[in-house]
Amino acid sequence: MLGLSLFGGWTYYQTRSEGLGSFVQDGLKNPHALAFAKGLLLTEILPLYLGVGILVWLLTLGYGIVIDRSLAKNWGFGTAFGLTAAALVWIHVVLWWRVPTALWVIPGFQHLPFVLGLLLLALGVLLPLGWWTHRRWGFRAWVLIPGWILLWTSLAQAPLLLGHQVRPQPRGDRPTQALLLGVDGLRPEEAEGQGLGAWPGSHYPNAYTMIPATRLFYSMIWGGDPAQYSIGHVMPSEVELLGGLRYSLMESYKARGLKSRFYIDDGGTIGLTNRTQSIFDDTAMPAAGWENFVNSNLAVHLPLYASWLDALRIFPSTNPWAGLDAGLRTALERGRGADLVMFHTCHLHQPIFLTREELKDLPRWWTLRPLDLRPIGGLTLVRPKDELNTDARRDPLLAYRIRVRHLLAAWQPIWEELSQDPDYAQATRVLFADHGERFYHVTPTLRLQGTHGFDLDPWELRVPFLVAGPGFPNGLAPDRAVSMLELRDALAGKLLNKRPIQPDSFGARPFAAVRYHALQADFLRPEPEGVNYLSLDPKTIILGSKLLPGGAWVMRYQAGLEERQRGVSLARAERDHLDVYKPLVGGGAHHLVYEGFALKEIHTIDDAAFAKAKREIEAEFLRPVPLSGEAP
Ligand SMILES: [Zn+2]
Repeated sequence: MLGLSLFGGWTYYQTRSEGLGSFVQDGLKNPHALAFAKGLLLTEILPLYLGVGILVWLLTLGYGIVIDRSLAKNWGFGTAFGLTAAALVWIHVVLWWRVPTALWVIPGFQHLPFVLGLLLLALGVLLPLGWWTHRRWGFRAWVLIPGWILLWTSLAQAPLLLGHQVRPQPRGDRPTQALLLGVDGLRPEEAEGQGLGAWPGSHYPNAYTMIPATRLFYSMIWGGDPAQYSIGHVMPSEVELLGGLRYSLMESYKARGLKSRFYIDDGGTIGLTNRTQSIFDDTAMPAAGWENFVNSNLAVHLPLYASWLDALRIFPSTNPWAGLDAGLRTALERGRGADLVMFHTCHLHQPIFLTREELKDLPRWWTLRPLDLRPIGGLTLVRPKDELNTDARRDPLLAYRIRVRHLLAAWQPIWEELSQDPDYAQATRVLFADHGERFYHVTPTLRLQGTHGFDLDPWELRVPFLVAGPGFPNGLAPDRAVSMLELRDALAGKLLNKRPIQPDSFGARPFAAVRYHALQADFLRPEPEGVNYLSLDPKTIILGSKLLPGGAWVMRYQAGLEERQRGVSLARAERDHLDVYKPLVGGGAHHLVYEGFALKEIHTIDDAAFAKAKREIEAEFLRPVPLSGEAP
C-alpha cells in the first residue's frame, strides 16, 4: 500500500502543472525540499507505518490468543506477516471508504467505478483471509475474522476521532473584541444559497475584497502598505522576507498591549515567517510555510499517514480526512483571552476530495470513477473525451457547492453558540472570504478547477460578509457596496480608538476599490482575438522562486516595483455594479461593466480616461486608515 501510494505521489510529481502549481512543483525540485522530503520519510512516515504495523501485529496476535491459545505457538513469520499486511490493507479500505475520492491518486483504482474499486479492495482482504483462516482454524474462523476486522477498523478510526478532538481552554482574562472567521474562496451567492442565509447576523449583500489573493489580503488587514501589497503574489518577495515591509496595524496593536492571535489550517497560503509571527500573541498552523504542502498535497497519497496528521500536529490541517470544524473549534479555544482572534480555513481549496458523507449529495455517486471527480487544472490538460462528457455530476463547481454546504452546516451551530460564550458574546464576529472563486468554462458543460488570484471580475471579487455581535441586527443589511478595507478600518478604530463597530461602519465609502497586479490567464481561457492585456505572465515575472529551510519561501521579481505597478488592473464597485479597468499592451484600457455576475458592456478607453479612473480608484484604495490621535 505504501509502495502504491508513493508511486502515485511520484506520478503527481512528474505530471505537468499549470499556473501557480508550477511554481510549487519547480520549488519541490530544490535541495531543501528534497532534504525535507527525505527527513519526513525517515522521521515521520516510515516510523508511523512501522508503529501502526507493530500495533496491529500485537492486537491481532492478542485477540487470536484469547480465542485460541495455540496461536501463540504457531505464530510464525508467514502468519505474522500475512495477518499484519491484511490489517494494513483493511485500514486503508476503511480510510478510502471514508474519503472515496482519495482513490483518484491511486494508479489502477482511479479508473474503476467507486463501487467496484471499494468492493475489490474489501474482498481482496476478506477472501484470502477467510480462506486461510478457515483452512487453519476451521469454524473458529467465524469468531476470529469479525473480531480482527473490528479491531482493525477501530484502529483506522482512532486517529480520526483523536484528531477531531479539541482541548478546552479556561475562560480568558478579558473578553475578545473582534473575531474574524475567513473562508478561503467562498462565493457569496453559493454561501447564502447553501445555508449561510439562515445564520444569525447582518448579511451584507454586496461585499467586495480589495484584492483576490489570500496573503496580500491579510497583509493589508494587518496594516501592510496597500501600494506595495497590491502588486505582490503568493510567495513573499525578497524585500518582504528581509524585513522591508511592515504590518503597521499589528505592530500598533502589540505596542498597546493588545493580544492578537491568528490561526490557519493551511499555512502555505499565508507565507508567515518567524519574523512576522512575532507581532502575534499566538499563531498556529499545521506546519511552517511551504512545509504545509505535505498536509494539503502529499498527504492524500499516504492515507494512513494523513489520518494521523491532525492527531500528531499542533493544529488541524486540510488533508482529506480532517474534520471540517476541527480547525475552527481549536482556534476558538486557543483564542480565549485575546483581543483579536482570526481564523482562516482552506477547506474550499482546490482540488476538493469529497468524503462519502458529501458524495451522498451526488446522485448515484458509486457509479462514477474516482478520476471523474478530479478537476482539470488548465486548458492544455483537457482531453477530447473530457469535452464530450456531459455528466453534470463531474462539474467541479458542484463538488465545490457540496463542500460549501457541508462546511457551513458544520460551522453553523458553533457560530450560534458564540452569542452565549462569555469570551465571544461581546465581540464583533465576522464571517467573510478573502476572495471568491472562478470556474472557467471550456465548453458549456465542462468547467475547469476553481481558481482565484488571476483576474478582476465578480466571481473573484464578490465575497460573503456577515457580522454578528452587539449592535448588529439579524437580517439583510443595506445594499451599499462594502470594501474589506472597511473591515481593516473598523478593527483599527475599535482596537486603537475604542470606536465601536456598528452597522454603518460598513458601506460608508463612496465605492469599494480594488487594485491588483492581475496575472495572465491564457491557460484558463483563451483571450479574445486581438486583445492583449498588460497582465503579467506568472512564468516570466519572476527570475525564480526558492524554498528555504523552515518553511520560508521567496520570489525574486524580474522588475522593480515601479515597473511592475504600471501593469496594475483596477476595479470599483457600487452596490452590485462593478467597473473593471484592465490596461492594454498598446496603451489604453478595457472598461468592463458588470451588474451582479452579468457582463453588460466592454469598451476601449484611451490612456487619459484610464489614468483618470485609475487616479480616482487609487485615491480611495490608498486612503490611510482613519484614526484619531496618534498615527498607527
Ligand atoms: Zn485565499
